Amino acid sequence: MQKKTVRDYIRTIPDFPHEGIMFRDVSTLFADARGMRLCVDQLLAPFAGEKIDAVAGLEARGFILGGAVAHQLGTGFVPIRKKGKLPGPTYSQDYALEYGQATVEVHKDALPAGSRVLLVDDLLATGGTAQAGIALLERLGCDVIGCAFVVDLPELGGRALLDRMGMPVHALCEFE
Ligand code: IMP
Repeated sequence: MQKKTVRDYIRTIPDFPHEGIMFRDVSTLFADARGMRLCVDQLLAPFAGEKIDAVAGLEARGFILGGAVAHQLGTGFVPIRKKGKLPGPTYSQDYALEYGQATVEVHKDALPAGSRVLLVDDLLATGGTAQAGIALLERLGCDVIGCAFVVDLPELGGRALLDRMGMPVHALCEFE
């Protein structure tokens, strides 16, 4: 029997959080010991040999992944949080959602300028969240060396957006 791939561990929940949305639920991947290990190893594989000073993760599932990836690399981890959650002085970045807008923040002193950072999240859809995260890291003077996602939904255009920015993107699987 063939071993399960990362994609096989991901569960799809129809009509969440709204009717017509197929929610790709990575909690089933994270809950499985082999799935989690596969996921972290595969996220890092294309960056082997690159100098990475820190991992940044997008709230909230990017924290679970980013912490594990940072541990594996032996780096620190920087959270990019939703507005109003970080206690110290922050930079803020607004971005568009399907309906309305959202804001993410990073601590102004999170990393020294010039740090080489890998940005991690569970899923790439329109790319708005990742683009906002990149903008914040760049405001810190960091060099974002790439973005790693478990899932890419290519039809939503995030991959194309990050490609146009010249940002290296690594995703472990795709859903339509
Ligand atoms: P984007 O900004 O449109 O690329 O949306 C990506 C963000 O929305 C990520 O932070 C994801 O965690 C979240 N997201 C959107 N759709 C899904 C889904 O189907 N499963 C899990 N997360 C999702």
